[in-house]
Amino acid sequence: MSRLAGKVAMVTGAGRGIGAAIALAFAREGAAVALAELDIETAQATAARIRQETGAHNVLAVRTDVTQGASVKEAVAETEARLGPVDVLVNNAGINVFCDPLTMTDDDWRRCFAVDLDGVWNGCRAVLPGMVARGRGSIVNIASTHAFKIIPGCFPYPVAKHGVIGLTRALGIEYAPNNVRVNAIAPGYIETQLTLDWWDAQPDPAAARQATLDLQPMKRIGQPHEVAMTAVFLASDEAPFINASCITVDGGRSALYHD
Ligand code: NDP
Repeated sequence: MSRLAGKVAMVTGAGRGIGAAIALAFAREGAAVALAELDIETAQATAARIRQETGAHNVLAVRTDVTQGASVKEAVAETEARLGPVDVLVNNAGINVFCDPLTMTDDDWRRCFAVDLDGVWNGCRAVLPGMVARGRGSIVNIASTHAFKIIPGCFPYPVAKHGVIGLTRALGIEYAPNNVRVNAIAPGYIETQLTLDWWDAQPDPAAARQATLDLQPMKRIGQPHEVAMTAVFLASDEAPFINASCITVDGGRSALYHD
């Protein structure tokens, strides 16, 4: 298993959930991986688990707040000093901010965009100069099926995720001549703490979970490693002509016209 051998990857929000699964999958495929995470203790624990599971030594945790451009730049500099130039960046860190548009506070709007859109741009901006100078690189942005479907009451998360697709396409075109590919993945329902927290916040969590399952064509929720396998593909040399694209990983849910 060495589809990413010799590559250096950085994954934001990799302390848990989809980001942790991507970091693990990358390490299994031979990449050196930096887990860029807000909570350094979570990142260190996950990095230790990945080292133990894969036997890889080149897995490190770096404290990063994706909302702060300077913090992301420092994390890239630390990664490059310890592992080498970043070949692959996965902008995965994200938060759910689900509000009614007219009762939403300014703070809700700002923290959603700070993480879910500014965070992605901060990551891209930090690695692009090096990738362009080296003439190679792959950026994978974790969007969502909310990037093209709307659920009432989930504002403004889908607005930010639509922006992630726009950013992916714009940067993919800007840097295509430099052999830097920028793609997105749009996961549907994936079983992570984010999803568990959302179910728990509903008046009847068990019923909410069942209602979600009932909506799925495959009658199950996706697992983080199923998104991670797509990230491995996009990061690898198996996808050299895939650029400015988005791959949906939702078991077919967003293709369904009617429930
Ligand atoms: P989780 O909440 O499980 O994990 C998100 C991670 O991001 C956490 O480790 C969190 O750290 C970290 N994080 C949050 N804010 C920042 C920040 N400012 N800087 C650095 N790291 C940060 O989420 P998921 O794994 O479920 O989601 C990952 C991505 O996938 C997100 O972009 C999400 O929008 C997207 N997605 C998820 C879906 C799902 O069903 N789970 C569906 C569609 C898209 P901490 O815990 O310390 O805050």
